[in-house]
Amino acid sequence: MLTIHSRHDLTAFNTLAIPAKAQFFTELSDLNDLPELLDFITQHDLSTLWIGGGSNLVLADEVPGCVVHISTKGIDIISESQESIIINVAAGESWHSLVRHCLEKEWFGLENLALIPGSVGASPVQNIGAYGVEVADFIEQVEVYDTALNTFTVMQNADCQFAYRDSLFKRNPGRFIITSVVFKLSKQFKAQCSYAALQTWLDAKGIKELSAKAMFDAVVAVRRSKLPDPDLLPNAGSFFKNPVVSNECFESLQQMYPDIPNYPDVSGVKLAAGWLIDQCGWKGLYRERVGVHKDQALVLVNHSGGFRSDIDALADDIRQSVRDRFSVQLEQEPIAYP
Ligand code: FAD
Ligand code: NAP
Repeated sequence: MLTIHSRHDLTAFNTLAIPAKAQFFTELSDLNDLPELLDFITQHDLSTLWIGGGSNLVLADEVPGCVVHISTKGIDIISESQESIIINVAAGESWHSLVRHCLEKEWFGLENLALIPGSVGASPVQNIGAYGVEVADFIEQVEVYDTALNTFTVMQNADCQFAYRDSLFKRNPGRFIITSVVFKLSKQFKAQCSYAALQTWLDAKGIKELSAKAMFDAVVAVRRSKLPDPDLLPNAGSFFKNPVVSNECFESLQQMYPDIPNYPDVSGVKLAAGWLIDQCGWKGLYRERVGVHKDQALVLVNHSGGFRSDIDALADDIRQSVRDRFSVQLEQEPIAYP
């Protein structure tokens, strides 16, 4: 049974804690209610925002149309062999709880993605990634309702056009309602430990034999030490994607800034957006209501009741200063709506 609220406060539904108001808001905890919801949306000709944890969103102060919080639950085993298992997970499950659940069951692969806030349903949207692992590596299928074709459909991994923090879903906002995600996980743990921060933590603990649990613990500990908890200091994680520049552009930057962090990428060289922003002196900057985190220049924070306009103005100024100094254009990672 659906309850539709009007002028609903979304402060608790976005981790940046922008005090946004939705024209209409509802909770979708049962997919059987979807036809009724879609009828309501069609009858009133509403734009719709489907949300999970609201941890990758920059909301306007007034959000027109209907905001739907998806909270469906369920983890079902589809098939398993000695080597692997295939599970179907409802969109409304918490991402981090799923990672923990898989670790407990000894279904491996997701350890490096521990502690990423938000829902399973949103994980394919920006192809969540951390510490050299992307969720696309484990997704077999994404089950969706396609609002353009008015039908449920199953999309194979290759159909989803996964890329670095990007997918078909991110590029077609509102079209696909992700109802569940099918993952293939391994029964053999294979460590992915190429990021220095994880190795440093493991070395400091004297851990030589790397287990999945040790990896999970390392990721959780390193993240807790570096990133602000949105419940204590509202934020939307990394505010800009790491830019990828051409080899020529990188070489000229490196001549001017010999210590510029850089990582090889298929289409050039990946730079660390946080480093560029830090060099421009933004780390720890405090404006009236919003600011830049003191330990991580890539994270914009909402100190007290900041609005979308405060965040947008700060982001514009940061982008401008990075462009002026490095001639590099930063692209916003969280989705601005509308
Ligand atoms: P929301 O913010 O609710 O939605 C994000 C987008 O997905 C919106 O466009 C929304 O419409 C769409 N969407 C959500 N659910 C559905 C659905 N069921 N069907 C269709 N569309 C849907 N991201 C990373 O990749 N790596 C990280 O390491 C990482 N760390 C973070 C750390 C912090 C402290 C924070 C605050 C954020 C971090 N993020 C990270 C960003 C964010 O957590 C992820 O992008 C996450 O997947 C968003 O999930 P959500 O449920 O909160 O999505
Ligand atoms: P970090 O380890 O301080 O590294 C800084 C940046 O350098 C990262 O953005 C990372 O790129 C890149 N990097 C570092 N080592 C690398 C390697 N061996 N190979 C390729 N790239 C490397 O980063 P952090 O800020 O503490 O974050 C740790 C991980 O969590 C990163 O993967 C980051 O993406 C992820 N994270 C994401 C969000 C978000 O909201 N999207 C928020 C917090 C953390 P990549 O970002 O491409 O990995």
